[in-house]
Amino acid sequence: MCGIIGFTGNTEAAPLLLDGLEKLEYRGYDSAGIAVIENEGINIIKSEGKIKNLREKIAKSHTPKGFIGIGHTRWATHGKPSDENAHPHYSKSRRFAVVHNGIIENFAELKEELVAKGYIFHSETDTEVVAHLLDDCYDGDFFSTVITMTKRLVGSYALGIVCKDVPDKIICVKKANPLIVAVSDKGNFIASDITAVLAYTRDVYTMQDDEVAILSEKSVEFFNLDGEPINKEIEKVTWNVDAASKGGYEHFMIKEIKEQPEAIRATLSPRITPEGKINLDGISLSDEQIRKFKRIYITACGSAYHVGVVGKYVIEQLARIPVEVDLASEFRYRYPLVDEDTLVILISQSGTTADTLEALREAKRRGARTLSIVNVVGSAIATESDDVLYTWAGPEISVATTKAYSTQLSLIYLIAIKFALATKAITDSVADELIAEILTLPEKIEQIFELEESIKRISERYTYLHHAYFIGRNLDYAVALEASLKLKEISYIHSEAYAAGELKHGTISLIEPGTSVIALCCTERLVEKTISNAKEVMARGAEVLCVTTEDNRSCANICDYTIYIPKTHPLLMPSLEVVPLQLLGYYTAKSRKCDIDQPRNLAKSVTVE
Ligand code: GLU
Repeated sequence: MCGIIGFTGNTEAAPLLLDGLEKLEYRGYDSAGIAVIENEGINIIKSEGKIKNLREKIAKSHTPKGFIGIGHTRWATHGKPSDENAHPHYSKSRRFAVVHNGIIENFAELKEELVAKGYIFHSETDTEVVAHLLDDCYDGDFFSTVITMTKRLVGSYALGIVCKDVPDKIICVKKANPLIVAVSDKGNFIASDITAVLAYTRDVYTMQDDEVAILSEKSVEFFNLDGEPINKEIEKVTWNVDAASKGGYEHFMIKEIKEQPEAIRATLSPRITPEGKINLDGISLSDEQIRKFKRIYITACGSAYHVGVVGKYVIEQLARIPVEVDLASEFRYRYPLVDEDTLVILISQSGTTADTLEALREAKRRGARTLSIVNVVGSAIATESDDVLYTWAGPEISVATTKAYSTQLSLIYLIAIKFALATKAITDSVADELIAEILTLPEKIEQIFELEESIKRISERYTYLHHAYFIGRNLDYAVALEASLKLKEISYIHSEAYAAGELKHGTISLIEPGTSVIALCCTERLVEKTISNAKEVMARGAEVLCVTTEDNRSCANICDYTIYIPKTHPLLMPSLEVVPLQLLGYYTAKSRKCDIDQPRNLAKSVTVE
């Protein structure tokens, strides 16, 4: 995920591009750059870091003069944040410059082919193949070259392209990444979202997958990938600037909740082959090495630790390797019993969480093999661990995590299956079944969004709540931990998660008439047991909300409220079960008028002990 802007018109492009990039900075901010057609050539200026650095660099050299250009603010997926990896990228002949949002999944094959033909790569990005491929496909015509090139790409992309031979036109094309075309009396724009252009216009076209647009100062034309013209309707945007950066949502948190299906798809798709097999790009472990592990530790903080708790259940059940989960802040000081036969998995959204980074270093000092699951490319945890698997969630702005948690979970499933195949604890057909089921998760999460209104109504009952208890067994307990944290961190309601069977060993004394209990009943073989625990607290006056699967209809007769969600393989239920509880936390906090995206006392990446 990143920010793209492009402009062709009757006024200098560079100031508009920089201004647009600043509005898009929330989408990605590890480096930025612009390309402007100037004096019959393309002038690219780019810089690591925020737009501020780019502005400084431009101020020190010169502002490119020209009426057409493209700009980019990057959220690295391939290659660390650096000047070289920043976009735009030149083609070999410097005839073309390209900005890209997304991932070119077949970039390695394309790169090999282009290198063999003598193309030299200056960056580690997947995007640079697009630039050189344009040269390679060049037939003298900008438009048909873009079409031929696009047909070679596999993956997700929004591309903005300029060509020095056609100094008044921008061409853009997209698949699975957002892109709009906006028209104004100054000229026409492309942008990742309308925030970038709201200062100039409210008239936009939303590009659909496999559509191509050609923009010049006075015209905008749309085509399909067969080069045939298509008609599109212009839309009038009514959002204000603040709403626009949140895609029309009131908070980043709800936007990010809604982005989960897309983020999970992006995380899974490069790791599952068209034949339905797992291909974990970032792991160089052989099956033999996996079989040698006597123990796995999963170490993390906050919600990432809760992903680890799910990981313990899933990896142990599938791969039959003992798994210990530990808070990074504890692990690092407890002289952990790890050696070269131990794998330590570190999970961190930012890749800079101080305790997790130190836990990683401690594990390495003791000779363990380390594998990290991280969302930020090139971050300390990613670079220092032996293997890294990136979640492709894009930037997460809201402090309370949602899409990072969900994408971390989906990678845990893939690791568990890969390890289970290596230890031969499961057969190929069991793995195939699980993988097929994993691929249905994004769609099932979309179905859960249909429950939003009823969850909102339930949350109204929680507006004046003081205490809440989440209970569940096995994976339901793992999700209860996350659901409870979600509620408390943004709504400031005191909340605790308990293994349902544990409640009666002490905490049940806190249950009194009116106490709210949320019973998670999605672990099929244990539903009856958790329901019995729900009955115990109801007998003491608690009000119980039950979250369960569609086939447990009888829960409605027992509990005060029930949320029914779709079913999937029992080991994958956490991915679905957490979603209504994220929504519950969000709407409860909203009804309590809390500062949802920036809860008090919290920071997004915790870089201190
Ligand atoms: N995959 C590209 C890169 O790593 C684009 C990332 C983005 O969307 O910012 O440079």
